[in-house]
Amino acid sequence: MGFNHRKMEDQRRQAAEKEAAGRRATDAQVIEDAARLIAAWNERQAQRMPMLFSPTIGAAIAARYWFLWVRCPACRSTSSIDLRRLDRHPDAAVSSLIPALSCRACRPNPPFAELVRLSGTSIADEPARRKQASSSRRVALRGHASARSFTSWSMGFVGRRGP
Ligand SMILES: [Zn+2]
Repeated sequence: MGFNHRKMEDQRRQAAEKEAAGRRATDAQVIEDAARLIAAWNERQAQRMPMLFSPTIGAAIAARYWFLWVRCPACRSTSSIDLRRLDRHPDAAVSSLIPALSCRACRPNPPFAELVRLSGTSIADEPARRKQASSSRRVALRGHASARSFTSWSMGFVGRRGP
C-alpha cells in the first residue's frame, strides 16, 4: 500500500466516522421531533379536531409509538395496528392507511376507519392498565369490549411483512 493510498483510506475513514457521529446526533433530534409531533397529533385526534397533518409511519416507529389505534365509526369497535409489521414506505403518513382498514363486523360496506391515536402499547395490552388507572366502571367495560372486538378488524388490504 503506497503512502497516498493509505492517506486516502485514512481520510475516507475519518469522513465515515464524522458522518456516523452526525447521524447519531440527527437521530436523537429526529426522535425528539417525532415524539413532539405525535403528542400534538394525538391531542388533536383526542379532541376530534380536523386533521391538518399526520405523522409518518417511520416517525411513529422512531418515537416508539408502534401502534395505531383505529375505530369503526359504525359499530364503535376499536383495534390497534402494529406499524412495525406493515409493508409500507416509512415516509407514508399513518393517515394513508385509512382506505386499507376495514371493519369485518361491518362488511360488506364498512365505513372508513377513524384514527384514534398512536400509542406505545397495543389495545390488547390496555384493559388491565385501564382498570388500574380508572375507577370508572364504564371505562373499564368499554376497554373490555374493545379488546374483544380486536379480532373483528381486517388488515387484509394492508400488506404484512413476514408470515
Ligand atoms: Zn364496524
